[in-house]
Amino acid sequence: MIPNHSPWIKQLNRTRPVVPLDKDVSGDVVVVGGGIAGVTTAFFILHNTNKSVILVEADKIAHGATGHNAGQVTSYIERPLTELVDKFGLKLAIDGQRSIESGWTLLDEILNKTKLQVPFYRFTGYDGLSSLEQVLLELKNNKLREDGGLPIHSIVIAEEWRHLKELPAEFKHLYSVTPKKNILGLLETHNTDYIAIVAYQKGCLNSAFFSEELVGYLFATYKDRFSFYEGSPVKTVTLKEGKGVLEILNNKIEAKNIVLCTNGFENFTIVNEYGGAIDTKFHHDVAGRIGYMSGYIEPINNPPTALSYFTKNSQRTGDPTGEIYFLMTRRPYEHNGKEMQNLVCAAGPEKVLPNDAIYSRKHACEEDTKILIDDFLHNNYNKHPKQDTEYIFCWHGLMGYTPSGIRRIGPEPCNQVLMYNLGCNGVGILPSIFGGKRISEFLNGDKVEESIFDPHDQRCEIS
Ligand SMILES: Cc1cc2nc3c(=O)[nH]c(=O)nc-3n(C[C@H](O)[C@H](O)[C@H](O)COP(=O)(O)OP(=O)(O)OC[C@H]3O[C@@H](n4cnc5c(N)ncnc54)[C@H](O)[C@@H]3O)c2cc1C
Repeated sequence: MIPNHSPWIKQLNRTRPVVPLDKDVSGDVVVVGGGIAGVTTAFFILHNTNKSVILVEADKIAHGATGHNAGQVTSYIERPLTELVDKFGLKLAIDGQRSIESGWTLLDEILNKTKLQVPFYRFTGYDGLSSLEQVLLELKNNKLREDGGLPIHSIVIAEEWRHLKELPAEFKHLYSVTPKKNILGLLETHNTDYIAIVAYQKGCLNSAFFSEELVGYLFATYKDRFSFYEGSPVKTVTLKEGKGVLEILNNKIEAKNIVLCTNGFENFTIVNEYGGAIDTKFHHDVAGRIGYMSGYIEPINNPPTALSYFTKNSQRTGDPTGEIYFLMTRRPYEHNGKEMQNLVCAAGPEKVLPNDAIYSRKHACEEDTKILIDDFLHNNYNKHPKQDTEYIFCWHGLMGYTPSGIRRIGPEPCNQVLMYNLGCNGVGILPSIFGGKRISEFLNGDKVEESIFDPHDQRCEIS
């Protein structure tokens, strides 16, 4: 059996001891959860307000989804824009999409300000499409981007494609055509099923390394306003008038605000003593899916990239029953002290976590998922060594799909002491960062516009 071995955790080279909460403390804001959402939320609160922040983490910083993802930075919401517009109207849907895209600038701002060493590669990435439905959906999305004032994506279609003439005239200005060999070249594939690409900004980032370094920066920079405790699981959150109390191990933390950045899978009770009951139904509604990934090392002959491959049955709806798509990233990686090589990672296979089943990060990687990934790379990535690839990394992480597929960011309507920046799905790096900034605006008393991410009712339901 292969252990759950993530390249992101390995790169941490962590030596810092775990320091659990061992006394009662108080502060302005407690952030619960030390993944990228919690750490960037702490950053923005410290940076944009004069409040003190206590960060508490049940395990270790960045050892949750943040340390077990596919490591691709991308700005799509896992529901097509067409569906978001149907649900929220053009303005709110476009604003939501624009907010996620603002995560790029926010990430740059953090990196510029903090001078973190974590490598961040940014480039044009490509999604490969293979069916008429996929092409039509991307064209509709592009039309909505145009209507809403967002820059359109570059969609390029193979001139030999037999359905080209069937595309509605209203989309004509939203794509260009090229010989198919160029499409296959950009996708680095020999698989002739792909007939179009969507090109847009993507990146590669080790979000665990980023979070770990950022915590170090916060600790060094805000000595008087920032503290953090690992190995400190929150058992109970009690909300009162204008404050909340957390029970952790044998101690308590009292704060004016509590921000849950727990990714939707927390194991604690919320008691609201001031306002309506807060049912944690939301957390049970989140459908768990385990995503599997593998990675191998190759010579550093090609630039960093991120490519997604939508096979004929793939879709990108956030629907837990939907077919999966594969994605591949390639980036420089220092392995075992040797010089930089390229790390090629692929993700795609997923398994639904049955209701009430407990996901354990410690479970080994499953052989069948490794075979699926190897087959995929073999059939799609033309630089893949044809046989006997040694996958030095094989790992998995838990994604939670809210019924709407949309992150939840903002104050709890039943008691605004409690706030959320959570609701993981398969794309969470930029949404977590944007969410952190938005939380700091709420806490600063800024005028915050309505958004698709607003929590709506006391049952924590996103419908
Ligand atoms: C398999 C997989 C692939 C992914 N691929 C990508 C990708 O390529 N690109 C992308 O943008 N996103 C991707 N994501 C999503 C992205 O990784 C997540 O959205 C993001 O890391 C979530 O960060 P987080 O801080 O919300 O959650 P986490 O990193 O899970 O952090 C939550 C933390 O809360 C802590 N916690 C929970 N309960 C308690 C408690 N009671 N007390 C104290 N602490 C608690 C946990 O221990 C955990 O450390 C992927 C996710 C998975 C699982």
